Amino acid sequence: MNYRTAEKHLRVDLKSVIKLVKAHSNHCYMEYNEYYNGQKIMVFVEADLNQRYCKLNGKLIELTTTLCNYGSIRYWFTCPVCGGRCRVIYWQGQYDYWACRKCLKLVYRSQQATKSDFVFWYDKAIKVAHIIDSNLNAEPMDFLFCSHLWWLFPDKPKYMKLAKYERLRNQFCKYAEIGQQLDQKELSRLKL
Ligand SMILES: [Zn+2]
Repeated sequence: MNYRTAEKHLRVDLKSVIKLVKAHSNHCYMEYNEYYNGQKIMVFVEADLNQRYCKLNGKLIELTTTLCNYGSIRYWFTCPVCGGRCRVIYWQGQYDYWACRKCLKLVYRSQQATKSDFVFWYDKAIKVAHIIDSNLNAEPMDFLFCSHLWWLFPDKPKYMKLAKYERLRNQFCKYAEIGQQLDQKELSRLKL
């Protein structure tokens, strides 16, 4: 199978952009190094947090915000292709546009994620939810938009015993909480 992994693509992580921008009174225009196939290449970044936009090599990418549990603001790229929110945006070199991982059909790191990575735990939680509903369309990043973790948990199917359902829900919440703690830790380190 020919996996196109996200890691091999030129990518810009919003957290590094935010860091640059915050150091320059919420507006910046600068060159910025990223890695592409193991090589360092230059990306020209222009960003303005007040005007909510970012330009990568001249291509406009709108920014959007959500409030997170602890009252701070979280910034997102708006994927120019699907309009979805994402933290990391990837370059489609052949046609020269930026898009989210889903739009470029890139395989995410969750297969290789370690226990210190929130993706790992969100992924584990989703696997538990899949025991109840194998059609559940959820992925680790969806947790970032939920104010209550159990929102992503499926309703009890009629055939399932309540005790079993509750046991799975507890397991789901346990994994999701570990994920959330790691996620918050990452967030506070960035001081967004
Ligand atoms: Zn997209």
